[in-house]
Amino acid sequence: MTSSTKKIGVLGAGQLGRMLALSGAPLKKMFSFYGQSNQEPAAQLGHPFFSSQDANGLADLIDFADVITYESENTDVALIREIAKTTPVYPAEKSLYTAQHRGREKALFDQLDIPCAPYQIVDSLDSLKVAVEEVGLPAVLKTTTEGYDGKGQFVLKEARQIEQAWSEIGGRELVLEGFVNFQRELSIIAVRNANNEHVYYPLVQNVHHDGILRYTIAPARNLTEAIQKEAEAYMQRLLDELDHVGVLTLELFDTLDGLIANEMAPRVHNSGHWTQDGAETDQFENHVRAISGMPLGDTTACQPIAAMINIIGQVGDTEKVLEMPNVFLHLYDKEERPNRKLGHINIVAETEEGLFDVFKKLASFLPKS
Ligand code: AMP
Repeated sequence: MTSSTKKIGVLGAGQLGRMLALSGAPLKKMFSFYGQSNQEPAAQLGHPFFSSQDANGLADLIDFADVITYESENTDVALIREIAKTTPVYPAEKSLYTAQHRGREKALFDQLDIPCAPYQIVDSLDSLKVAVEEVGLPAVLKTTTEGYDGKGQFVLKEARQIEQAWSEIGGRELVLEGFVNFQRELSIIAVRNANNEHVYYPLVQNVHHDGILRYTIAPARNLTEAIQKEAEAYMQRLLDELDHVGVLTLELFDTLDGLIANEMAPRVHNSGHWTQDGAETDQFENHVRAISGMPLGDTTACQPIAAMINIIGQVGDTEKVLEMPNVFLHLYDKEERPNRKLGHINIVAETEEGLFDVFKKLASFLPKS
């Protein structure tokens, strides 16, 4: 790939693709999306739109693109392998294959000396009973694949819940992991290009409600250089081992004993949306730069503090948002539906007090409890 890489094909046409196109356009990149319908958030920003309903849709996308990327870690690995025979795909197969299975992810963390919770893979009620003995309680039982926004999870507090847990989410491969007593949840976004250039955004603090990310504060409050360096060191090991090209996100628990890795995503991430208005170069532009062989952009935060609030389920009073200074509205053009991510609000501020004043004014966008 060189800077002359112009046409970017994206598997998927959701909000992440939409924001890739918005950030890539000033770099003269052209986008095309392969999605289910031309009503999806990215469809109108890419030309042409290739439909998965059309027998030739995928072949046409591959034909169009100089490079291909994807929006979801649930993208079919075999498909990526096949496409890569003719057209470069970034992030490459190894990153995708690892990130879509919690067991493979944790094995990689172990291999690279990145701390994670104790865990056991289970595939039957009996093996779950053995795992509970080994991992101890409390513990969190999760599906090894396809879990998102806290779905496919059961918190096991007592041994008498084992059968209930297995009947609720079992019957398939699961991972039992020790319950982490974290102080807060963090994430770090890193970017690597094929020239082995690495850049890292500041660690951010994420607050979830009912398993869904509700807001991010960037940088994480009281962030020390030591903890930032620790997270960057973990990321560097992952990027190098995976030979990763593009954005890579790592979710971490911040505990009294240091950082513990939870999971990673080989893509731009909801906890990085603040970078659109709060960092010198946003995560979407940096992903585009990385996959098209360009130098990476500065990841420095351009204000002392920033935040991102997700708009979930209902769009709400966005007029109010538009009237506020240093507050930025991003809508994805999706229909309202419970628990659906419809957009986000970015905020930049000089001080934490200033930021929390804005939060108070935007209380209707925040979870009630
Ligand atoms: P995940 O899908 O792994 O990101 O999990 C969703 C949420 O469940 C996380 O954001 C945490 O709030 C919580 N969680 C997941 N794993 C653990 C764990 N091992 N210990 C404590 N809380 C967890």
